[in-house]
Amino acid sequence: MNSQRAYPKSFSFELFPPKTEAAELALKNTVAQLRQINPSYCSVTFGAGGSTREKTFETVVSIQEGMGIACAPHISCIASTRSYIREMLDAYREQGIKRIVALRGDMPSGMLTTGELRYANELVEFIRQETGNDFHVEVAGYPEVHPQAANAEKDLLNFKRKVEAGADSAITQYFYNAEAYFRFIDDCEKQNINIPIVPGIMPITNYTQLARFSELCGADIPRWIRKRLEVFGDDRVTIRTFGIDVVSKLCRRLLEQGAPGLHFYTLNQSDATLAIWHNLGLHGNNPA
Ligand code: FAD
Repeated sequence: MNSQRAYPKSFSFELFPPKTEAAELALKNTVAQLRQINPSYCSVTFGAGGSTREKTFETVVSIQEGMGIACAPHISCIASTRSYIREMLDAYREQGIKRIVALRGDMPSGMLTTGELRYANELVEFIRQETGNDFHVEVAGYPEVHPQAANAEKDLLNFKRKVEAGADSAITQYFYNAEAYFRFIDDCEKQNINIPIVPGIMPITNYTQLARFSELCGADIPRWIRKRLEVFGDDRVTIRTFGIDVVSKLCRRLLEQGAPGLHFYTLNQSDATLAIWHNLGLHGNNPA
């Protein structure tokens, strides 16, 4: 973990593109609230092959231009072509976007073609070829191992490929086992992977939704957390109180042991993220 202490702390949050006008308004409100964090940047997800592609662009531009917060689009290469990605990169560069989260993405159900670039390392390489150092490139890391990886060692070597292709920093998949993150960092150090690896933090507010996401992305919900959440049922207030306590303690431990910041998966809600933020006593301390 020592190498991670050397990096400046980065606090950021993730949003998804709104689908309706009402959701768009609500998102503006969320971002206005999250401004308190003085974020290093916010990022906006991208639906591979789906209808949110243009929406990602519109959302990123409206937040960066309209609200003055640096914004990073996610770009995924699955089900896409080099020329389409080139167009997107050009468009983002024209808008003054400086950071990109480069991902493989997941195949939308029903789509059979994988696209011209198969893995995120190929996307990072392509971004560097096309745009040099115009963008700060973030990639995804998996402390609990990507669900499709053959094993942890191969997954780590595949993570290393993204760094060697030119990634500047990484955001992890969310996790609730701090040990998994610390071990991942140790393993990265042994592989001479020298970039900031910022933990992705998923606040706990809704058990059914969290269980579904975790099943899909391979994030482990520890038994002691699951067992408590199961008992709370639909009692949102108790879930929220418990979740904020658990996740605040996780964040505190990560920061104390050298994590170079936090990236909150907000699901377009500010409430839980802000409660965790305040619990951490970071108010006014963000060096961004
Ligand atoms: P990769 O790094 O390409 O890895 C995918 C799998 O292939 C892994 O199992 C890896 O071990 C293996 N692999 C990698 N490279 C090679 C190689 N060269 N040869 C053989 N095997 C290889 N999804 C979205 O659709 N939209 C989003 O906006 C989005 N945002 C995300 C943000 C973050 C921070 C994270 C952690 C995930 C996000 N995802 C998003 C989910 C992500 O797209 C999925 O986890 C996807 O399955 C993998 O993407 P990746 O970029 O990590 O892929």
